[in-house]
Amino acid sequence: MNITRQLDADGICTLTFDRVASSANIFDRSTLAELDVHLANLEAEPTLKGVIIASAKPKIFIAGADLKEFVRAPDAVALGEIVDLGQRIFTRLSRLTVPSVAAIHGVCLGGGCELALACDWRVASTDKATKLGLPETQLGILPAWGGSVRLPALIGLPAALGLILPGRQVVGAQGLKLGLVDQLAHREYLTAAARRLLARGKRPPPPHRVSSFTPIRALVAAQARRGVLAKSRGHYPAPLKALEVCTDTLSHSLETGLVLEKAALLELFETPECRNLVGIFFLQERAKKLSVPAPAVAAPVRRVAVVGAGVMGAGIAQWVSARGLPVILKDIAPEALAKGLRTIEAVYRDATKRRVVTATEAMAGLDRITPSHLATRLHAVDLVIEAAVEKLEAKQSIFRDLEARVRPDTILATNTSALSIESIAAGLAHPERVVGIHFFNPVHRMQLVEIVQGPRTSADALATALQFSKSIGKLPVIVKDSPGFLVNRILMPYIVEAVRLFREGAGVEEVDRVMLDFGMPMGPLRLADEVGLDVASHVAQDLGRRLPHPAAPDDTLEAMIARGWLGKKSGCGFYLHAGKKGHEKVNPQVGAVSTVAVRPLNPARARDRLVLIMINEAACCLAEGVIESPEEVDFAMILGTGWAPFRGGPLRYADTLGIAEVVRRLEVLSREVAPRFAPCEYLCEMRRAGRTFYPADNFVHQ
Ligand code: NAD
Repeated sequence: MNITRQLDADGICTLTFDRVASSANIFDRSTLAELDVHLANLEAEPTLKGVIIASAKPKIFIAGADLKEFVRAPDAVALGEIVDLGQRIFTRLSRLTVPSVAAIHGVCLGGGCELALACDWRVASTDKATKLGLPETQLGILPAWGGSVRLPALIGLPAALGLILPGRQVVGAQGLKLGLVDQLAHREYLTAAARRLLARGKRPPPPHRVSSFTPIRALVAAQARRGVLAKSRGHYPAPLKALEVCTDTLSHSLETGLVLEKAALLELFETPECRNLVGIFFLQERAKKLSVPAPAVAAPVRRVAVVGAGVMGAGIAQWVSARGLPVILKDIAPEALAKGLRTIEAVYRDATKRRVVTATEAMAGLDRITPSHLATRLHAVDLVIEAAVEKLEAKQSIFRDLEARVRPDTILATNTSALSIESIAAGLAHPERVVGIHFFNPVHRMQLVEIVQGPRTSADALATALQFSKSIGKLPVIVKDSPGFLVNRILMPYIVEAVRLFREGAGVEEVDRVMLDFGMPMGPLRLADEVGLDVASHVAQDLGRRLPHPAAPDDTLEAMIARGWLGKKSGCGFYLHAGKKGHEKVNPQVGAVSTVAVRPLNPARARDRLVLIMINEAACCLAEGVIESPEEVDFAMILGTGWAPFRGGPLRYADTLGIAEVVRRLEVLSREVAPRFAPCEYLCEMRRAGRTFYPADNFVHQ
């Protein structure tokens, strides 16, 4: 039983969702069927005066539909039946003759939000765990249990599109402002507030809005369409379809609107974009459950020290402190510490502005950070994360020093981008407690962490690093201690190749446009600026030295670094970074480092060079056991670099092209451009055996 019913003497019935043996409430067929039975009983209840829908879970109202049931549906008919079921039952709820209210505390997303929309009223808790939204477009589909019909009718077309098209989630206060919820209440007064709303009776029909008039609606839709296309470059069919449905349903009955919704969902579900986005969702769920098998034991981490208060150290300290853990932040330079703290304050300020945390929580988070530039004992610390300069000797000396200051059981982690864990741990009395926890920049935005297992890293240290990363809300992948680990190993040849295209005479924006058109969130030269040209050059040269194939960069980056152009951090690189973010202008002097006259680029050839070099490197990583599976490669590239999610990652994309075609194009590039494109043995073997990275009919990995 997932729903309990309590009918009070005053005729108010509370249906409480509490899915057995689960921390989350979700809508699967059996829960929908249970709700249906409850509604049938309520319809026959003579004393009934009102219905409250609530949840017994501490942080979840209803998280959405059970996606597994959707993907397991053998055909469109079976999928259509699930859609029909939800639509019919939510409509039944909306047509009760007594008023209904959703008393929302915790996550109220997708199907959960659609259930709430089918009620007459909604009251939301002021708790920050309460989040409302219809995020279906992020999975390549659209709300189809009435959400695309009921939300525009309730809050008006522009506001509804603002939520549905990007799949945006809002907290209670924002929901109130939008009209999505009718009232806010502290969690403990939620039921009382719900009862007061029931006293208002059935909700009157919504007023006729200006945005519902056909000409205005057309204008709103055209503007929203322009916005979607500018953002997605037309790669994502779901927001466009959702826009069409939301706009159309306004001039139809509920029944017709539901038919339109269903047809759109069935159409979108067939698209590769949907398959790839749903695949990422399942991989995220899998990463949340990743663990090291027994007898490995993850030690609890209650106190953390971060060594180095630069870009990464400050980012890590902020993130960890925001998750409630006390952090000692160390740096040798007091000015660096002060700068790090200013960065942390700025991140908290921004989070407060975006209502991710309250001002009090931000203050408490800052208070949990203890800065120190002195050599102190770190006996209370369970985990140290080193994020100092990327120099092996410096890191070795820091680890030797740490070993003398921490407890024997403290885990020592490094955030190195590419150095060997084994070398960093060399000379330590206990190298088995050294592990890599590689965060990505900016820490508060990037969900991925690479957990790097050195040859001598103990299973317990690995388990602790993994457990800790999950406990602070990051999504981990386990990688082998090898040059650049996984993400940088694949990314660096890509950045170096983009620099080569520039050096051969292509324009900076021209190179970047190729990959923006492919679906990357930013072009490779803009990315190089973001990473820092000095860092990119250092890592690329290091990989070039340590890897068997020739991936070393030419001297373009060095020439730029010599001019003081380090990318974003120095205000100048391939672009000038003075103005508004996202509107950077090309550095007008950048041509000085390219000796070749400007030549127009062949976009298809450039795209092949940039994309196939990554696929080749990713295949090498699999061959060398840097990571276990193609799914993990794709997952890490999408979460660590924003690799065109709708394409499913580099290896899924390789399957889409066909392995034989990938090998053929690499062979052409290797002949016509440079030998560095020669397909690796792993890919050639796959072609010979007719293998693919993913099984043919594989929709997702559940
Ligand atoms: P950074 O130059 O911004 O900061 C390094 C900090 O370490 C400086 O404040 C410096 O004063 C301090 N430091 C140097 N020696 C120290 C010592 N002995 N004890 C304490 N502090 C010391 O560097 P960053 O970009 O934050 O990178 C830090 C680490 O994280 C590097 O290993 C880097 O490869 C890795 N990393 C960087 C990024 C990135 O995008 N910047 C991403 C992932 C990983």
